[in-house]
Amino acid sequence: MFALALVLAIVIVIIYIVYDKKRHKATNTGASRLAEDLRDERKKSDIILGAIEDGVVLLDSKKTIQLFNTGASKITGWPIAEALNLDYKSVIKLVNDKDEPYIDGDHPLEKVFESSAPIRDNNALLASRSDKRVPLFLSASPLVDEQGNIRGAVAVFRDVSQERQEEKQRGEFISTASHEMRTPVAAIEGYLSLALNDKVATIDSRARDYLEKAHASTQHLGQLFQDLLTSAKAEDGRLINHPEVVELSGFSQALADDLRFSAEKKGLAVEYALGSSNRIDASAGENIIQPLYYANVDPDRLREVITNLFDNACKYTEEGKVTLGITGDENVVQLYIKDTGNGIAREDIPHLFQKFYRVDSSATRTIGGTGLGLFICRKIIELYNGRIWVESELGHGSTFFINLPRLSSQKAEQMKKAATSEKYGTPLQQTTTS
Ligand code: ADP
Repeated sequence: MFALALVLAIVIVIIYIVYDKKRHKATNTGASRLAEDLRDERKKSDIILGAIEDGVVLLDSKKTIQLFNTGASKITGWPIAEALNLDYKSVIKLVNDKDEPYIDGDHPLEKVFESSAPIRDNNALLASRSDKRVPLFLSASPLVDEQGNIRGAVAVFRDVSQERQEEKQRGEFISTASHEMRTPVAAIEGYLSLALNDKVATIDSRARDYLEKAHASTQHLGQLFQDLLTSAKAEDGRLINHPEVVELSGFSQALADDLRFSAEKKGLAVEYALGSSNRIDASAGENIIQPLYYANVDPDRLREVITNLFDNACKYTEEGKVTLGITGDENVVQLYIKDTGNGIAREDIPHLFQKFYRVDSSATRTIGGTGLGLFICRKIIELYNGRIWVESELGHGSTFFINLPRLSSQKAEQMKKAATSEKYGTPLQQTTTS
């Protein structure tokens, strides 16, 4: 629907531009006829633009507003006549969820002029004329002429306040329900464990078989409630998160040792791969043996992500090896988890990090899961301005990558010192009295 509105808006804008051009050329009768036709076209365009609920804005090559429809006026609070001919930055002011104004390079309307490709933004909040915050879904497209020059841009945006409100209510319901249900499920799981314990209860082999199945299903249910709770928290920003400076090569190596056991139990080999960075960045004066990869993350949350990816790699790999690796360059630390499993079909890859998405395959039908793990991983990595993605081919295994912004050793030291003095306070200055 939104894409349709965007296409429609671009068509209308082109008709508009064509009309403007032709109008100047209309000197003879044929031409004035054409102008009349076009005027009719323009009338139609005006009607459509006026009727569209979404905001439609056309910028010229100087980034000033040349067209501003009624929808745009309602959403921004700017009267059409006042918005026209203004720089777009005065009218379409965007802020992020921390209420920080978008800097130039972040603004989708700035980006289209730089990248000359369509840009979408699903997270922006508009600061309206009366300084209200309106959540938007905004899509901007460049208008490129035959020579490849950018002649302007068109933006279409929608007020998504109601959708966000509904999402919030849904999230609250899910988190309350899963919180309440976790307790009885944990009790059932506990009693089933007791019933299965030879030292506490005596049961025949058939009863054991039934109870083991009930126990496995209860564990699955408990995991589902836990994942639902975490994903609801991740969505509304309530996930507990205490970022600190973490050196990730030591961190990931220790984690690989902890995780090794579960893979080896299934007969899979485990490898830890430490790559060198383009520019080795170790503490000054040390003998450089391994690069230091610093990032500002909550170690518990990152452990959760890597454990999840590692568990998936073991779950979906029948034989071979699971590798946990780290590498990077000056700006980025890259962690990856590679397996020799069945791989993932190309058409499933774009959906993998969505909520509840499970690949429909014989493997997933027999292997338990909630389809929430990768969604939670993405939400956590996004907290640190990182990126998570997968590269995979059916029959050739999968590699999940995590990119995190890298801190230089110097910056890491500074941040550690600042955190320590914040925690313990700076030593009192000695004051001398004469
Ligand atoms: P689940 O609880 O189902 O494992 P996830 O969100 O962790 O949920 O993963 C979503 C889906 O992605 C899985 O159901 C599986 O189909 C696929 N998947 C995840 N990791 C791998 C992997 N390493 N190899 C193959 N498929 C994978």
